[in-house]
Amino acid sequence: MSFTLHGLGASTGIAIGRAMLMSHATLEVSHLTLAPRLVDKEIARFDKAIAIVKGELATMKENTEHAPAELAAFIDIHTMFLEDSELVEKPREIIRERRCNAEWALVQQMEHLVGQFEQFDDPYLRERKFDVIQVVERVIKELLGHPGRAALKAAKHTKEEALIVVAHDLSPADTIAFKDHRFASFITDVGGATSHTAILARSMAIPAVLGLENARALIRDGEQLIVDGMRGVVIVNPDPRVLDEYRLRMEQLELEKTKLKRLKSSPTVTLDGLDVALHANIELPGDVPDALEGGAEGIGLFRTEFLFLNRGDMPDEQEQFEAYKKVVKGMGGRPVTIRTFDLGNDKDLHPDASAGDRVKTNPALGRRAIRLSLSEPKMFQTQLRAILRASRYGPIKLLIPMLAHAHEIDQTLAAIEQAKSSLRGEKIAFDENIPIGGMIEIPAAALAVGIFLRRLDFLSIGTNDLIQYTLAIDRSDEQVASLYDPLHPAVLMLLAHTIASAEKAGVPVSVCGETAGDPKLTRLLLGMGLRIFSMHPSQILKVKSRILKADVSEIAPNVRKMLRLDEPSKLREALDKLNA
Ligand code: PEP
Ligand code: MG
Repeated sequence: MSFTLHGLGASTGIAIGRAMLMSHATLEVSHLTLAPRLVDKEIARFDKAIAIVKGELATMKENTEHAPAELAAFIDIHTMFLEDSELVEKPREIIRERRCNAEWALVQQMEHLVGQFEQFDDPYLRERKFDVIQVVERVIKELLGHPGRAALKAAKHTKEEALIVVAHDLSPADTIAFKDHRFASFITDVGGATSHTAILARSMAIPAVLGLENARALIRDGEQLIVDGMRGVVIVNPDPRVLDEYRLRMEQLELEKTKLKRLKSSPTVTLDGLDVALHANIELPGDVPDALEGGAEGIGLFRTEFLFLNRGDMPDEQEQFEAYKKVVKGMGGRPVTIRTFDLGNDKDLHPDASAGDRVKTNPALGRRAIRLSLSEPKMFQTQLRAILRASRYGPIKLLIPMLAHAHEIDQTLAAIEQAKSSLRGEKIAFDENIPIGGMIEIPAAALAVGIFLRRLDFLSIGTNDLIQYTLAIDRSDEQVASLYDPLHPAVLMLLAHTIASAEKAGVPVSVCGETAGDPKLTRLLLGMGLRIFSMHPSQILKVKSRILKADVSEIAPNVRKMLRLDEPSKLREALDKLNA
């Protein structure tokens, strides 16, 4: 039966593919203690479930001749796990020794194995934890009487299709681990449109719909899905007519992309001759080719915290140095802005180690980003030394996230000086004049921007957090996503004030939040005086096409008038007029 789900379009584009359900099985199983006489029966039930799932995988394998290589690889890995004593023998022992029900025994063993995989240094091996989770989920579904065989039959007919991840929630750490898989799309029950999960989907240039509320419960493994990231819609088991329409739309989108590519080598200049710089946001060194392919003139934001996620240890100075050097060298002389880690909040280093900790009710207001860096001086020095060492290989700028207070800036500058002086002592070369900038992400920073302008070499406005904190809405909470509004008059006032103050002080200012990559807002930002934009590589040419057609001398007076409006409907009308 075909049905449609509505959520938040977090990343545009269209994907057509088969559902691949991901969940944390732990949430779904009951914990029972068996009477001794039932233990053998329980082991037999467990063995039968393993055998059935193995059989299902074998049938799937027979039907994957023309399927994407990823699907065949998944099946092989999952089959291998089902033949491994760690997943076959150990749960039997747990059932016998602890008299647990089969599901609970399997989940305990899964958690043990996931913990082991997380310790691996090799990212490929670390990522295998997802395979363990998925294969365990298959067995649990069989044990719970949801074998998903109907879906399996349906999968036989459209072998060539891509995979779409269906999850209740995906943390930024989960999502970054998918980067190499090249899934066609993500959909989740929870999450806001500027959550880091959404940002990662955009950076991978794949459609995503979040905040669907119960997709995970309504969709079955292997069902066919259309994900329309623009409209925030997921169509489950579409009928052939709808499928044809979407295939046509996909072709049109491809055509538009090809046309945009022609703009790549032309300079980014407005009709009235103003130069504009378009930079890329990246999460890992491996994103550099996408940035260059997208036409980036530099990296405007390297979110270094992603180097710290999905691992049991910390990257040491040498490992970080290699990563930063790789980006700088990869960009071949173009500027690279490296943001010191913005850990904490949703990018927690130890998400599972909080059992004994105080429960943090407002992690977004807690010890994240520069607050964490200043409270962990050793970790901060390691990163600063690594960045400084990489600065001899090309133009690097250092960017500090989440600053609010003058004393935080002063302490940060002192920490940078300390790192520099230790390198001087060791006669290690680095750029003595490395520019140091601050992110404007907290309303206090935007309002008291003079504190920043007097101390720093450049500013970068992080609209994702600036909007979150100005409007007091959690950017990762789908329940308040409709209140997330870049056009709120208060947000526009803060943006305009920051850009104008920086211009007056002669301090370069960029926007690196999602606002910079939204073509509907390009003319507005140009009119406010913005000349440096940083965004996902996939957005650069779309924004560039708007810039090439803009006459700022004509736009600026209209934007000034617009900023005097504070009635939302009038503001929207004015934006439509500006873009007409
Ligand atoms: C921002 O807050 O706008 C930003 C660019 O940083 P992040 O999205 O990583 O918080
Ligand atoms: Mg931010």
